[in-house]
Amino acid sequence: MSVNDYDYGYMFKIDQKVKRKALELHFDALVVDQHCDIQMDVITRRGRLENKVIETHHLPKLKQGGIDCVLLSTVAHFGYQPYPFYMSPPVAALQLIDCAYMDVAESSDSLTLVTSTQQIMDAKKAGKVAIMLGIEGAQAVETELGLLRNYYRLGVRMMTLTWHQRNMVADGSGEPSDSGLSKFGRDLVNEMNRIGMIIDVSHMGEAGFWDTIKLSKRPIIASHSNARALCDHPRNLYDDQLTALAKNNGLVGMCFCAPYVHKQTATVNEVIDHIDHIADLIGVEHIALGPDWVDYAVRMVMDCMDPGGYLARGASITSFAKGLENAARLPNLTVGLMARGYSEKDIRGILGTNFIRFVEKAMEPVESI
Ligand SMILES: [Zn+2]
Repeated sequence: MSVNDYDYGYMFKIDQKVKRKALELHFDALVVDQHCDIQMDVITRRGRLENKVIETHHLPKLKQGGIDCVLLSTVAHFGYQPYPFYMSPPVAALQLIDCAYMDVAESSDSLTLVTSTQQIMDAKKAGKVAIMLGIEGAQAVETELGLLRNYYRLGVRMMTLTWHQRNMVADGSGEPSDSGLSKFGRDLVNEMNRIGMIIDVSHMGEAGFWDTIKLSKRPIIASHSNARALCDHPRNLYDDQLTALAKNNGLVGMCFCAPYVHKQTATVNEVIDHIDHIADLIGVEHIALGPDWVDYAVRMVMDCMDPGGYLARGASITSFAKGLENAARLPNLTVGLMARGYSEKDIRGILGTNFIRFVEKAMEPVESI
């Protein structure tokens, strides 16, 4: 596609030549979305006997947004309930993973499953979107480390330990009790460290965050969280948490979900305010992207929402920062970063190379599983 095809960057005061340079940089750079929820759409549509769901309904937006790699989050529960509702979380997780395999196999000219950074680079060269499997919520392992190892064998390389609610590992950030890692949670962190499964602490309560970061021998990630200093929501991280993440050589992915960006006006500019704050605090090399888009599944997410409204705190988690409403809008971020004076190297880092550098340490296999 031509970068002229879309009206990117209209919200910034920026010279047209600089904007053009930003867009060229965006489409040349390796771009990684660390938190992509499209699997729920894949399983829903495949259940209606559709095929090539990613290629048909998601690839066009990913291509428009210049996205080269997505971490596909397998969510096998919604709140305290398994999801899909008639399955236990491990069965649901295995079913979701199977759907991903089937869907990618049907579109092997444009999509490929990957488990290493080399494969991500190779996919970009081949013009394919790389898909790395992840799991969101350790409900999927119940209390069996063998299930964790089997997910790894299936290609899963990252797991978010909790969602908003508690599970057998720890409390999520929506639990008033804020309990840290359970005994099983500690065993799980140790085993994830051993086999090289990336530990994701987004959604975790504070106690769980601190227990995990103290225990983990490998760098950890908060794949889709923002700075609590700028937007005081329990899903975001305090400055001391961000500082600890940097000391751990970890990474934080910027989430574009409106309630976690700004309480009143969430726009691409406010997302960049979070990037500014975190870059000043711990260095831009610890920043990446975890958009969390669900623009394609608004009805489904709303149907599953807890009636008490904790998740959204008055604003919908299905609304996104203006200018970053869906994957196709991502180039606006690069234009905005350039307008704020970020260097080409820093922008490439945020878009993807920081993730690659992090992943090599976080999931380098140390021994056979
Ligand atoms: Zn999430």
